Amino acid sequence: MAHIVILGAGYGGLGIARKLAKLAPEGTIIDLIDRNKKHVESIQLYRVAAGTAQPDDISFDIQAVIPESVHFIQANVKKVDYENKKVEFTDHADISYDYVVLALGFRSENFGMEGANEYSYKLQDIPTAQKIYQVINSNMRDYKQSQDPNDLNIAVCGAGFTGIELLGELIDTAKVLKAKYNVPEINITSIEMAPQILPMFDSQLAQYAVNFLKKNGIKILTGAKIKKIEQNAVVYTKGDSDEEQRVYANSIIWTVGVSGSDVIKDSGFDVKRNRITVTDYLNIQDHPEIYVVGDDSASIDPKSGRPLPTTGQLALAQARVAAVNIVAALNNAPQKKFNYNSAGTVASLGPHHGIAEMTKPHIKLTGHVASLAKNSSFEVVLYECAGIKGLKKPN
Ligand code: NAD
Repeated sequence: MAHIVILGAGYGGLGIARKLAKLAPEGTIIDLIDRNKKHVESIQLYRVAAGTAQPDDISFDIQAVIPESVHFIQANVKKVDYENKKVEFTDHADISYDYVVLALGFRSENFGMEGANEYSYKLQDIPTAQKIYQVINSNMRDYKQSQDPNDLNIAVCGAGFTGIELLGELIDTAKVLKAKYNVPEINITSIEMAPQILPMFDSQLAQYAVNFLKKNGIKILTGAKIKKIEQNAVVYTKGDSDEEQRVYANSIIWTVGVSGSDVIKDSGFDVKRNRITVTDYLNIQDHPEIYVVGDDSASIDPKSGRPLPTTGQLALAQARVAAVNIVAALNNAPQKKFNYNSAGTVASLGPHHGIAEMTKPHIKLTGHVASLAKNSSFEVVLYECAGIKGLKKPN
């Protein structure tokens, strides 16, 4: 009987496991492996970092949502020995496979930036998200005693999706902490290298987001290239100038980009930022028994010739096709090509606002209605990958 091993129970891994349970021939062994017992809604980590959600609000037990025919194993993957078709672990005996799915998700990327590891706080999982809130909270609390103005300053490095959604959520956090510790104004600054934020959105929507954040007191520096992080400052240059400027802050948060899992690189695959370029069928050219989905994969967009941007929505769309293709391989049937049609792009600006650009029909939404669109798209994803009707919503 065929043995399928799925590494990672994020959106991609869970999505494949549930679909395979329905489609795979009876007797197929399906193992789903993750180092954690819980699936974490990584697109909601910013809420834990801002203190507006608790870890349990954005996570759920993997075992509770998978079909009976899927066998869950909690273990930490070390590498995939693809020559011998087995997976090695740091805390479990090797597991052999006929087909393996790499769906191990992302990690924060610091691009070797001086001081980033030492002096800034990355956002990549529950512990790092909790640490961010702890640092912000304790700096505000300590201000009364320290009278250090940097205690009141928060710097968010990078204004991609993660940075923007965190900034939006921090608006309320700042109000709450200001009142709680009776401190003067809390200053939040975003430092972004690109000339404009949110280039993936229509310019009107991106401008709405900028205006919203500015109106709520957030300072946005664009065209500001971060050069290093110091103990209490983000050092950057503007435009062509070499002159170093600083944003001083005791809470420095790093959201400057992500890579795929280090397991991908450590296994010796050909990678760029720990991502493997997959075929149109979502497997690897020289190893068709290895499928890759989500943040560990680079699916080339035929229109641009560049990898599609990684999102939860993309991971789940890939999961659908990869599951069908694994079953086709088991049945010696032809494989299906992956064609991605994004349903749209949404970003939240705090719990009740956001921007959204839907594709079919093409509509642009702002404010509360965009935030509702984000919540419902999130619920669709959740239902498909876990069969549940939503986690606790923002208050
Ligand atoms: P990202 O790569 O999307 O954004 C990083 C930002 O940092 C970019 O705007 C980049 O210009 C900036 N940057 C890079 N180097 C810099 C430097 N030296 N100085 C200043 N700025 C610099 O990364 P992310 O925001 O962490 O998102 C990670 C992935 O997760 C993305 O693929 C994103 O699409 C996805 N995501 C999607 C959603 C959503 O769909 N709502 C939410 C969160 C994350």
